[in-house]
Amino acid sequence: MKLKTMVLAAAMVCMLVPYVIAQESKFAIAIHGGAGSSKDGMSPKAVAAIEASMNEALTLGKKILAEGGTSLDAVESVIVFLENDPQFNAGKGAVLNAEGAHELDASIMNGKDLQCGAVAGVSTVKNPIIAARRVMTDTRHVLLASAGAEAFADSLGSEVIERVPNSYFTTPRRAKQQQRMKKRKAELQNSSSQIDSMESKVDRMGTVGCVALDSHGNLAAGTSTGGMSNKKFGRVGDSPIVGAGTYADNKTCAVSGTGIGEQYIRNAVAYNVAAQMQYAKASLAAAVKDNLENRLDKNDGGLIAVDHEGNIATGTNTPGMVRGMADSSGRFEVSW
Ligand code: ASP
Repeated sequence: MKLKTMVLAAAMVCMLVPYVIAQESKFAIAIHGGAGSSKDGMSPKAVAAIEASMNEALTLGKKILAEGGTSLDAVESVIVFLENDPQFNAGKGAVLNAEGAHELDASIMNGKDLQCGAVAGVSTVKNPIIAARRVMTDTRHVLLASAGAEAFADSLGSEVIERVPNSYFTTPRRAKQQQRMKKRKAELQNSSSQIDSMESKVDRMGTVGCVALDSHGNLAAGTSTGGMSNKKFGRVGDSPIVGAGTYADNKTCAVSGTGIGEQYIRNAVAYNVAAQMQYAKASLAAAVKDNLENRLDKNDGGLIAVDHEGNIATGTNTPGMVRGMADSSGRFEVSW
């Protein structure tokens, strides 16, 4: 009898171990390069260059996760990579505000313990996502803004948070874009509804975001942006606002948004995706779809999200959003 029980127990362990290992080694990652314009208005060369960069970013994130790294490290590394690429509206290549300067926003969140960090309106931090993570780990606060965030960066030293002159972020493309918008705005003579509709259409793309589930079962999300082109000096969007542009909770999902920040803040979009899963028992795909179709207005923006089981959902209600998805089952794709 005793022997029979032991044999049975051993058989059960043999059956369960591969299952537990398979569960634990599951990972998934999604990235976006901003919602807005469609790729149809872009040259094939520009489309290919953006896709190449997205592929590289996704490969980097996937490798970290496949080697057992944390979702936080994958999110931070992917976003640093995209911030350093001048094609995106984050870090180098960020849009200019109405004063002709760059003010950058970023946030990161750990789904394991709801710890999060963000910086808003920074102007000399080369990689705002690194500063955001340091706010999370090295302070008791969540969000540091402009001069205070720069002073925090000073206190850690440039080996930890690299600093650059504000002009480092400017690319010829962004300077031209801002001039075009200024001219058009003057022509519209400050009619705010026309300006709003113009801003929602003009060359709006390039914010970056990443969400990931690691093989330890932890979710993380991060977003980084230069904001909206020709924005008012001091304007802060959704990207550094936890619950609006970024959210992660191991109970539900990790989310990063891109689009008209004011709309993401008003509708608490990133948190709303998680809340629909938690309270209404919606699937990740249904929660993402509902936010894009029913909470946000058409042309407001897009979302990427991954849940605690490794499901990925992405979508946009704008003409385009470049995105990438990869997971432990071998999925690897970049699409618009
Ligand atoms: N959400 C960003 C902001 O409003 C911009 C974007 O995603 O394109 O600052």
